[in-house]
Amino acid sequence: MRTVLFGAPGVGKGTQAVRLSHLLKVPHLSTGDMLRVARAEGTPLGIDAGGYMDQGKLVPDALVLKIVEDRLQQDDCRRGFILDGFPRTEHQAVTLDEWLAANDAPLDRVIQIVVDKELILQRLSKRGRTDDDAAVIARRLEQYDQLTRPLIHYYSEHGIMCAVDGVGTPDEVFDRLAALTC
Ligand code: AMP
Repeated sequence: MRTVLFGAPGVGKGTQAVRLSHLLKVPHLSTGDMLRVARAEGTPLGIDAGGYMDQGKLVPDALVLKIVEDRLQQDDCRRGFILDGFPRTEHQAVTLDEWLAANDAPLDRVIQIVVDKELILQRLSKRGRTDDDAAVIARRLEQYDQLTRPLIHYYSEHGIMCAVDGVGTPDEVFDRLAALTC
């Protein structure tokens, strides 16, 4: 199963993606995690990306697409994957579709985790990551609204978009996701 977990920063995508990847026995591909690892390792890509991440801006498509392309070519992705935090722009979404179409293995579904903005702000301000201070949070939400939210329309047109309520305990949200994916 090839799944994208979609949603604004702070809706709980990362936590749920890890759990879903265990349930479905497919790898969890988080571009945020990949970029943080590249950064910690001090690779040129990681250093480049770090500046954007600190400001709450999206990392340029070319950099992100490179790491995702490399990762998708690894053997463990043949049985499927859970993408978390990717795609985040229309260009990323179109490129992903092209890659997957070339292998005759299109996305099965895109699941949006829906949480209203006030609760997102509360959650992000408690998380304590370096990109979670107030100004950076505001920028990340703005980037989501401008660049990422339009993908809901893109995937709806492709007939693969669905949504779950992200309010509740992690177990409650996971049960909703599992009901959709199994
Ligand atoms: P995340 O852990 O998914 O919240 O991502 C943390 C940061 O990494 C984001 O604020 C962006 O700066 C960057 N990032 C992660 N995924 C992407 C992506 N698909 N496109 C552009 N930037 C990304």
